[in-house]
Amino acid sequence: MARYTGPVCRLCRREQQKLYLKGDKCYTDKCPVAKRNYAPGQHGQGRRGNMSNYGLQLREKQKVRRYYGISESKMRKYYAMADKMQGVTGENLLKILEMRLDNVVQRLGLAESRAEARQLVTHGHFVVNGRKVNIPSYLTSVGDVIEVKEKSKASPKFKELVEKHQGTTKPWVQFNSEKLQGNIISEPSREDIDLPIEEHLIVELYSK
Ligand code: SF4
Repeated sequence: MARYTGPVCRLCRREQQKLYLKGDKCYTDKCPVAKRNYAPGQHGQGRRGNMSNYGLQLREKQKVRRYYGISESKMRKYYAMADKMQGVTGENLLKILEMRLDNVVQRLGLAESRAEARQLVTHGHFVVNGRKVNIPSYLTSVGDVIEVKEKSKASPKFKELVEKHQGTTKPWVQFNSEKLQGNIISEPSREDIDLPIEEHLIVELYSK
């Protein structure tokens, strides 16, 4: 299934949960989830019966897909990787998603949202360990150095973003605002991933 490119606030309303897909607007009272906390569409305010177990599993999986902006086929691929790793499969899955280059760029404060991070990566504004990488799904590793490309460093956009997001980076990444450079110093822990979901439901769904 292709990646969704329609209005993103509908996705949060469908999940009846903020998924923070729009940057600034998500933190204001203009957020549609705050104003209209029911599903979009004609029957959005209709009766919502008790959800089946399958329904609950499906909704958790969709939340994660929407939060990270990934396709179903990519999600299944990441699940297969997570399942082969040691440790808790659900946590492994979230850790893999966090290590995607577009997510790391957003976590470093170099984009307002994952969608913007994805676009900036695709447009070739970043280098990883000194080499240009324009693939948003590129999986980074501990020790990697992610930096804004030399030519792009003068862009006022990055200056603005750095000023705005100062001090908001996660503990598993380190950011040098002079060099516009980030280091991955450890794997993210589950506590570092501020997504309120029950990942075990996704494991139950995919392991059927
Ligand atoms: Fe979701 Fe942000 Fe839109 Fe609110 S403003 S519905 S959190 S994308």
